[in-house]
Amino acid sequence: MKKNNSKIILFFTLVMTVFSLLGCGQEQKKVDQKNHPNLIVIMADDLGYVDVGFNGSEDIPTPNIDRIAQNGVKFTNGYTPYSVCSPSRAGFITGRYQQRFGYERNVQYRPKDPNMGIPPAEKTIAEILRQVGYTNGVVGKWHLGAHISKHPLKRGFDFFFGHLGGGHRYFPEELTIEDSYSISDEPLSYRTWIMRDHQPEKTEEYLTDAFSNEAVKFIEKNQNNPFFLYLAYNAPHGPLQATAKYLNRFDHIENQKRKTYAAMVSAVDDGVGRILDQLKVLGIEDNTIVFFLSDNGGPEPNNGSNNGPLREGKSSIYEGGNRVPFAMQWPAQIDPTVYEYPISSLDILPTIAALTHAPLAAEKPLDGVNIIPYIKGKKQGRPHQTLYIRKFDEDLYSVRDGDLKLVTKKKNTLKELYNLKEDLGEENDLSAVFPEEVKRLDSLRQDWDKQLIDPIFLGLKHTDRWKKRLK
Ligand code: CA
Repeated sequence: MKKNNSKIILFFTLVMTVFSLLGCGQEQKKVDQKNHPNLIVIMADDLGYVDVGFNGSEDIPTPNIDRIAQNGVKFTNGYTPYSVCSPSRAGFITGRYQQRFGYERNVQYRPKDPNMGIPPAEKTIAEILRQVGYTNGVVGKWHLGAHISKHPLKRGFDFFFGHLGGGHRYFPEELTIEDSYSISDEPLSYRTWIMRDHQPEKTEEYLTDAFSNEAVKFIEKNQNNPFFLYLAYNAPHGPLQATAKYLNRFDHIENQKRKTYAAMVSAVDDGVGRILDQLKVLGIEDNTIVFFLSDNGGPEPNNGSNNGPLREGKSSIYEGGNRVPFAMQWPAQIDPTVYEYPISSLDILPTIAALTHAPLAAEKPLDGVNIIPYIKGKKQGRPHQTLYIRKFDEDLYSVRDGDLKLVTKKKNTLKELYNLKEDLGEENDLSAVFPEEVKRLDSLRQDWDKQLIDPIFLGLKHTDRWKKRLK
């Protein structure tokens, strides 16, 4: 009898323990959900400013990307901190102007060079979020250094499915180089197998579709813990390659380049739709922040993109260079709105860090800010009074202060001033009309410039292959 009693007591104790563990687990999950929203950053590559529906595209429908802007915030003045791929991404991933740590050029593909990439002293968004329990994944284009020490898994990420270089071929039969570390050349890097964490993997799908699949799987796998997914599509960056499935949607576009480009954008849009649907199905849409943006403006002649009213495009210091399609949603907290003041991809890290109270390194102050209070109207005024670009090799600068923008060229002997509110296309140089403003903005430029260092590595433009191409 006594033996049976103790068995019953043991049984009930076990049951109670299991229930209490389950209860605790649920409570814990609730707390985590509220204070630790999931974060998804979808970054397109070389996408034109008006090549999304929410910015007025007429020939390329992007109904899924538009859902983000419609459910959340459409940013009309969304910037990146540079106008080409790699430095723009270095700024986003650290929340700091990348010129502060010498990252001012497109990295060369150099698996043997540990200097080519973000210095170890700089913290990435993944390293910061890891401190508060996030699982972090990268799917797509890395382009922040090909040395093993720069690999996403060495920089705070728990999962990687993608390529290390600045672009990639899209058809699986063209990916013929198994080992990403066996080559040291950017164009060859476009042909490597895709890496799953550290392992090369032979893929069988159109690359954009393969990335969408992995993104959807990552979300499903991590639905019960806070996660950060950096989905960096290399589309619609060249080479221009699309499958019939997407090309067939664009019979109305005659120009072949534009048609293929449109098909590539459409493939990204399908992927975005699948991700948004997945969030809904899993019931985590409300507390997941989703950003969509391009890393820089469209290189119009190269990939058939369209920056609309903006002057120039990729690699420029005019608006076409780094004012990009930019939207976000966070249904639990943000009502649909259009936000007009300038914001930057530098703001994504400080925003999620503030929301999660993640510790930050005091000696590495951020250049971005938490934009949520501004969007919600709890903070008035501009998140950024001033935004800057420096292009060291070309000796070019731009300073946007309020709605005025100063562009300086040729060792600062040539200065142009524009009022972006009245002159979005930067056509009317006001430097002769407002010399005092030129002086004021130039002084801001000089103060900022003093905080920067010279580039710490040579760029793609310094490689022999690039120089030959230019000859
Ligand atoms: Ca790019």
